[in-house]
Amino acid sequence: MEEEEGGEDYLFKIVVIGDSAVGKSNLLSRFARDEFDHNSKATIGVEFQTQVLELDGKEVKAQVWDTAGQERFRAVTSAYYRGAVGALVVYDITRITTFESIKRWLDELNTHCDTAVAKMLVGNKSDLEHIRQVSVEEAKTLAEEEGLFFIETSALDSTNVNKSFEIVIREIYNKVSRKVL
Ligand code: GDP
Ligand code: MG
Repeated sequence: MEEEEGGEDYLFKIVVIGDSAVGKSNLLSRFARDEFDHNSKATIGVEFQTQVLELDGKEVKAQVWDTAGQERFRAVTSAYYRGAVGALVVYDITRITTFESIKRWLDELNTHCDTAVAKMLVGNKSDLEHIRQVSVEEAKTLAEEEGLFFIETSALDSTNVNKSFEIVIREIYNKVSRKVL
């Protein structure tokens, strides 16, 4: 929880987007604090959480932003996207409509950010297999078409949550370090 301010080698802004109630805030709190919140409180206003990782001996600070309720009104501001170098685009595997929204979220992301942003398609709530509406195959197909990484997660039981962020962070790190060299 305690971390030094400003001592990091790299600071990456990562945005988490997707329809309301897909589990964005819980993915964030699981990643940053290893916590899960059963009572979804959709606070209004942009918030972020930070997590420090070590990659190749470098300190990388991930500043992960949460739409914090703005997405309910389709009113995610351009300030939210500004400077983002990574994105988790999240749907809920038990609600097909949230998967159908992915293209709209990608359009919005591409409107505000460089196409080089590292993007991960995240199918959350993998613990709810018995009520799944989106197959792994159709998600993989979309990910391939759109040039995204793909992973299924459960913020509830922690499956693949850290991995999803870490893959994105590693990809950004690789891009940045290639540029520097
Ligand atoms: P957000 O609106 O996208 O930020 O979604 P929240 O993180 O607030 O979660 C919405 C609802 O889904 C809440 O009731 C959460 O408890 C629940 N939820 C989030 N992630 C998971 C998950 O991985 N599995 C299950 N079963 N429920 C989840
Ligand atoms: Mg939320």
